[in-house]
Amino acid sequence: MRAFEFHPAHQISDAIRSLDEANGNARICAGGTDLLSRLKDDVDNPERLVCIRTLPDLRYIRNDKDGVRIGALTTLSTIEEDAYVQKQLPLLHQALQVTAAPQIRNQATMGGSICQRPRCWYLRGPFDCLRKGGKECFAVYGENKYHAILGGHLCYIVHPSDSATALVALNASVKIHGSKGEKTVPIEKFFVGPEVNILKENILEDDEIITEVFIPHPAPGCRGAFNKSRERQSYDFALASAAVQCRMSRGVCEDVRVVLGGVAPIPWRSREAEAVVRGKKLSAATIREASEAALRNAKPLTQNDYKVDLTKLLLTKSFQQVSI
Ligand SMILES: Cc1cc2nc3c(=O)[nH]c(=O)nc-3n(C[C@H](O)[C@H](O)[C@H](O)COP(=O)(O)OP(=O)(O)OC[C@H]3O[C@@H](n4cnc5c(N)ncnc54)[C@H](O)[C@@H]3O)c2cc1C
Repeated sequence: MRAFEFHPAHQISDAIRSLDEANGNARICAGGTDLLSRLKDDVDNPERLVCIRTLPDLRYIRNDKDGVRIGALTTLSTIEEDAYVQKQLPLLHQALQVTAAPQIRNQATMGGSICQRPRCWYLRGPFDCLRKGGKECFAVYGENKYHAILGGHLCYIVHPSDSATALVALNASVKIHGSKGEKTVPIEKFFVGPEVNILKENILEDDEIITEVFIPHPAPGCRGAFNKSRERQSYDFALASAAVQCRMSRGVCEDVRVVLGGVAPIPWRSREAEAVVRGKKLSAATIREASEAALRNAKPLTQNDYKVDLTKLLLTKSFQQVSI
């Protein structure tokens, strides 16, 4: 690990100033469960760490009239244990229960979870890959069992965050503070694929911090389900996952959001599957048609075509759970 300056921030404005001064050579450190391993593996070498764990006011879960607000430093285990999340946002609760291990969830924060970097072994290893400014994506002809089958464009990382998949399905938004002020962005627009930015997974500028995630209250009749497949059952990243949030009325799906995880560089919203089920009863035939539609444009690499059927299966399971 290389030497770096350590700047604990006591106010959001301190953190932004410290990031701004460093001109792209600083990283925010929250729980550190992702960042510190990148530093130790020498794949990220910032000159400065801006520690935001010292910020006093970003640990909260607040219920207001429109929805629930989660401070960026709230740990995943605190969110998982929250009574409102358990009752009203089962999709998020299910996603958190299968995120990493309890010890990591005790340390990992909401902001860090959605900003964690991909686990691609070429990105995290001694390879000069496209995402690090190099000339090629080694996954295309290399070991690509865990890589993208949808939305890969030159680079085939998959977004690693289970929370992110759930939050896109829940139509969440993120509040961002930076030297130009404050803004709120739908989380779906927060993530960007390699066709937009080959070096980054989201729109955050170097001097910006996520301060809050907002999730609107689900409308009456909403049901949600999240299913994930992982190789190691004790803790592991998604081989694939499927989140469905559906507003049901008299057995008919009035509105729906379908998001796939572990299969694309961003949490992958499947409008194809949504179009199939919207306005219909969730019969076995409709669910089958929707699951086929979601994967119709999949382009597996040499070692990951198993993800196509696996994802269809997970999506079928999530649809079945919301239809009961
Ligand atoms: C063994 C292991 C298994 C795991 N399994 C899973 C899994 O199954 N599913 C899953 O989803 N995740 C998994 N993870 C990843 C884990 O969820 C993340 O490491 C964690 O959520 C990151 O949160 P953190 O607070 O520790 O972030 P940090 O490590 O502090 O930061 C992560 C990144 O986010 C940035 N960042 C942090 N906070 C903010 C903020 N407020 N605003 C802007 N940028 C910010 C940092 O600069 C850094 O780049 C696993 C991790 C490990 C070590």
